[in-house]
Amino acid sequence: MQERSGFPADPCLKCTLCDVYCPVRKATFRFPGPKYVGPGLARLPEKSRLLDHTAGWCTGCQVCERVCPSGVKSAHLVLRARGRLVEQKGPTLRDWLLSHPDWLARAAATVSPAVNWLLRAPVTVALLGTIAGIARRPLPAYGGRSYRSVFRSRPARGAAGGETERKVVLYAGCYARYHRPEIAWATGAVLERNGVRVEIPPQACCGVPALTNGLVKTARKYARFNLRVLGAYVGRGYDVVTPCPSCGLSLKQEYREFFPSAEADLVAAHTCDAGEYLMSLYSEGQLGTSFNTVSREVAYHAPCHLRAQGVPAGFSDLLRMVPGVKIDILPEHCCGLSGTYGFKKEKYELSMAIGRELFQAVRSTGKGMVVTECGPCQVQIQHGTGVDALHPAIVLAEAYGLWSLTEQHPGSDAVKGGEQFAELWNYTGGTTFSSSFPRTGPGHP
Ligand code: SF4
Ligand code: SF4
Repeated sequence: MQERSGFPADPCLKCTLCDVYCPVRKATFRFPGPKYVGPGLARLPEKSRLLDHTAGWCTGCQVCERVCPSGVKSAHLVLRARGRLVEQKGPTLRDWLLSHPDWLARAAATVSPAVNWLLRAPVTVALLGTIAGIARRPLPAYGGRSYRSVFRSRPARGAAGGETERKVVLYAGCYARYHRPEIAWATGAVLERNGVRVEIPPQACCGVPALTNGLVKTARKYARFNLRVLGAYVGRGYDVVTPCPSCGLSLKQEYREFFPSAEADLVAAHTCDAGEYLMSLYSEGQLGTSFNTVSREVAYHAPCHLRAQGVPAGFSDLLRMVPGVKIDILPEHCCGLSGTYGFKKEKYELSMAIGRELFQAVRSTGKGMVVTECGPCQVQIQHGTGVDALHPAIVLAEAYGLWSLTEQHPGSDAVKGGEQFAELWNYTGGTTFSSSFPRTGPGHP
């Protein structure tokens, strides 16, 4: 008899540690937990009819993998189970649309004032809920100008920390490209302030929304495009830097996991989170630390996908060096939005229940601003607490004198930091968060 070897669920000891730490399982016992939806479902035959929808309740935070003593890749097994299910049954229109954020955003960004107005109208929110299954919550507004044109308005490159031969491509991510171009601007401007040459090549969505919605073929298409473009730059001596933790996870880990190739290995080895990259400059004495005083009290939230990369503290360490910045590090919690997850009607209440501990932690700090690298975390924190949330690169740009959170940004009519953010989020037409999502219920094994 032929021996089976290397089956990814085999190392599971059934210790349930992953279940204990899973934020969805903590929020509701209706979710059977990673032990079942990960190694459990992976043991089913390829086309098994027993595959069920429970894999869809996982947010993809990857906490289960970080705590597993046997190295079981439960979160990835969940994604594979979801992919098998979608292959059998096909995606819903809503999930297909959410898996193609650039397709939607390219159309919307060209007429963003009208689209933003429409997205805020209660009637649109109600229609999106009824027709498309989108949750009644504020949707991220689209930026007024393309991130590439915003980036062109950056100041000239200068060596704040010393001469450097470093050159990077900025992989901005869909949130910065279509919703908050100032994130790409601030990240690029801070890098260039430190003598790094920055280029922004054409780029597609990283594919995480497609993977998490079970559209593996769509994610592969995105991965092929990005790997071809980024691989060519890496071959010419560039590193890849991204301000987005989920994009970073994709480039470093998910492409290798789902679409293994020599190009995926090459790009992964040369990809850095922006905070991680700036800290590497600091370690080599190449980071300028003559910061302006920035009188700002902030709470820092480390996103799940940054922790999954093993990068718990890039920007938070940088902000500690800025005179005047008082920073509290929030305890580790998932925000619950998880990309497209919390925008789904049936997941909204659960998404807010998952984020509850983080919201409480934010409120208890009493800080008027949260900084976090992840766009969806910013959206969810703002929605769950009413506290402004923004990317830490913007505060760092402020410390270098490149940006002002209180003045109109010189490079763009469309972006100017916190004010626009607050205005866009003064939304009152949606469902208010109810803390009553049941922890127990009929699905509990
Ligand atoms: S996947 Fe890992 S943490 Fe979860 S039950 Fe199995 S061995 Fe334990
Ligand atoms: S990835 Fe996160 S939400 Fe999904 S099963 Fe693992 S711990 Fe739970």
